[in-house]
Amino acid sequence: MSRPELRLRTDLLVANIRAVRERIAPSELMMVFKDDAYGHGLTWAVETARDVGVEWFGSYDIASGVEMRRLLGAEGRIFAWATSTDAEIDEALAHHIDLGVGTAEYLERVVTRARTLGAHARVHLKIDTGLHRNGLLPEEWEETVRVVRVAESEGLVSFVGIWSHLAEASDAEDDDARSVFLDAVRVSGESGGTPAMLHLTASAASWWRPELRGSLSRIGAFCYGIRSADGPDLDGIAPVAELTATVLEVLDDDVVVGIGSFDGIPSTLAGADVGTPEGPRELRRVHETSSVVAGWAGAAVGDTVTLFGGGEHGEQSATSLAERIDTVGEEILTRLTPRVRRRIVS
Ligand SMILES: *Cc1c(COP(=O)(O)O)cnc(C)c1O
Repeated sequence: MSRPELRLRTDLLVANIRAVRERIAPSELMMVFKDDAYGHGLTWAVETARDVGVEWFGSYDIASGVEMRRLLGAEGRIFAWATSTDAEIDEALAHHIDLGVGTAEYLERVVTRARTLGAHARVHLKIDTGLHRNGLLPEEWEETVRVVRVAESEGLVSFVGIWSHLAEASDAEDDDARSVFLDAVRVSGESGGTPAMLHLTASAASWWRPELRGSLSRIGAFCYGIRSADGPDLDGIAPVAELTATVLEVLDDDVVVGIGSFDGIPSTLAGADVGTPEGPRELRRVHETSSVVAGWAGAAVGDTVTLFGGGEHGEQSATSLAERIDTVGEEILTRLTPRVRRRIVS
């Protein structure tokens, strides 16, 4: 077969999830599945997480939240945080999807849809702790909490969570964000109890800054074994995906492999090492549907070359490739196109 493959290791996904949970306990894991589970494929990732006992599933948008509900049946909590249309809110309410709410306007629409449908909304209010990417400002927090409480007393919503997202640019900024967050938690507590789910941290802060963890931690990258750009390797965490291509032609000093920019490989990755049966070799050029790799003794048509993975054949991780071109490992995975076949290998 000459089509490239993204080979997925269920055993490693399970091990990563376990390592993350152990690390963050007693904070609970909300595993994040945005962008088709960071390019790994939503169905496989959600089913594997469910089988290992994950109870919180994070979806950016409601449409993939609905897909996740179809996979999970009545099990599990799904959290979708994109500000969405009324039609999408209706879908979320019908499928028991918790909503992340970061503006007063969105809250009003959620309450209106719940009232119109005779449905019940589960709401996690987002406080803007400095990232300025959606979120209620501290000065509008108290009033918004009051609106939620009124809707709660009418039986239209449950105020189940308070959340925010960290910049993770510096510890000092994250500490400031935390104090804004705790202030919002205090104000809501004074208005009638603190919601059970408090969530502020994603992969890096959940792992490295225990004092910032809430009762819930939203984690994507580390579950898939994608370390942070410019961050260290992590104990017990390994890349779950390996990208492979087949040798199509053996030239004098080079081989031609069946993967290229149309598969989502940035041509700027030329110069990086990839894995071969004889260890690391240079990726010399990236064309549209093929690439040229430095050859090795005994190279043959049909041999496998590994573009990124766990290092078994001398290849680098997605994050190490990403660092060469100043991006993050997530992007190397999520830009792979449908030409790349996903195959579960364990
Ligand atoms: C992507 C995302 C996460 C997960 O981030 P990772 O660094 O992949 O763990 C958590 N929360 C929000 C709001 C996100 O957008």
